[in-house]
Amino acid sequence: MSYRNMIIVKVGEIHLKGLNRPFFERTLINNMKQALKCFEDIRISISQSRIFVYNIMPENLEEALNILSKIFGIHALSPAREFEKTIEACIENAVDMLKQAGITSGTFKVKARRADKHFPIESPEIAATVGGGILEAFPDMKVDLHNPDRIIEVEIRDKAYVYFETVPAVGGMPIGTNGRAALLLSGGIDSPVAGYMIAKRGVQLDGIHFYSYPHTSERAKEKVFELAQELCAYVTRLSVFIVPFTHIQEQIYDKCPDQFMTILTRRFMMKISERIARLRSCGALVTGESIGQVASQTMESLLTTDNAVNLPVFRPVIGMDKLEIMEIARKIGTYETSILPYEDCCTVFTPRHPATKPKLDEVIKAEALLDEEALIREAMEMVERIDIDANGVIHTQKLVDMAIWKDYIKE
Ligand code: ATP
Ligand code: MG
Repeated sequence: MSYRNMIIVKVGEIHLKGLNRPFFERTLINNMKQALKCFEDIRISISQSRIFVYNIMPENLEEALNILSKIFGIHALSPAREFEKTIEACIENAVDMLKQAGITSGTFKVKARRADKHFPIESPEIAATVGGGILEAFPDMKVDLHNPDRIIEVEIRDKAYVYFETVPAVGGMPIGTNGRAALLLSGGIDSPVAGYMIAKRGVQLDGIHFYSYPHTSERAKEKVFELAQELCAYVTRLSVFIVPFTHIQEQIYDKCPDQFMTILTRRFMMKISERIARLRSCGALVTGESIGQVASQTMESLLTTDNAVNLPVFRPVIGMDKLEIMEIARKIGTYETSILPYEDCCTVFTPRHPATKPKLDEVIKAEALLDEEALIREAMEMVERIDIDANGVIHTQKLVDMAIWKDYIKE
């Protein structure tokens, strides 16, 4: 009996794409190759909206499935066998695969799909014949069409395939098919979840983090790198732009009315983020804000933050309860890091009575007490880019040393 072990990948929403479909599929395959780089000689091909992964060593199968299950655009995965399409080979491989998996009892149903209409036997008959072969080989197995213990799938395409295990994957759209956005990444629970949700729609992310050393510690910054690293299970690689924020916060604290401290801090964050976003061709900003969670997240406050920038601000957790956000954080693996007790620059300078319904004109008047352009410029000159992948920091560079800095100076 000759066969190849491989993985069948079922795509999600890409199905809905008409003429653009090859672009979505190509992007997905590239993302898969990137994510599977740690294994040698992987081969990936595509046929009729199924993607096939070859050359995964049996000892690497579990890890490969785990990696692939986190790639946006993939709906489900099945470890399968591929072989020549004869009905005898279908029976033989189904029986042998069950035997190898130690499955010799319980109920089953065979589901057949004949994508190659030239194959002389129709689907119901393929199912019945393979089912008959299994019953003959395993007297303790029984057919149950309504509530079987397992479904054995047979697909007839260019080759034939058998599988009976399906691993669910994250779904969504392949990263890189829906542009780029800048995620304001704090050390909290909400912003990594917000980033995950936007990335899931196929959006490539950049991270931006503001820190106020020595008011916030080095450890708080490292925690953000850890979160970025955890997000890399889904986004493969993430550049985080680190913005020193101490002077700006001290200036707001010294010169502006106490009640506007938070809202002015947030406006500066948005303005600096917009500049970095534009340098990186990001089409939007992403935050982890949720209505009413804190003073800066009332509708009036959100209006004043939105007013600071000319990019759309995506807030995917805006309507979610903290418990719902925490549930996603646990699922994606960022929760445990997020709850480590390190301070955020927002909390260090929290006023005793922050305005919950700030008036935009009053906020703008308070902001005019500062030399905004000079402060932003000074911060931009110290921005660092930290490239992170699933193994940690891979590269660090100052924004002023990057080619894009020249575009910034020009503006
Ligand atoms: P999170 O749990 O993500 O920290 P939060 O509930 O603490 O959010 P805020 O501190 O008001 O709420 O922050 C709201 C949003 O502003 C965050 O979700 C994040 O997108 C952004 N943000 C806050 N602090 C920072 C920071 N230091 N650097 C970058 N973005 C930040
Ligand atoms: Mg926070």
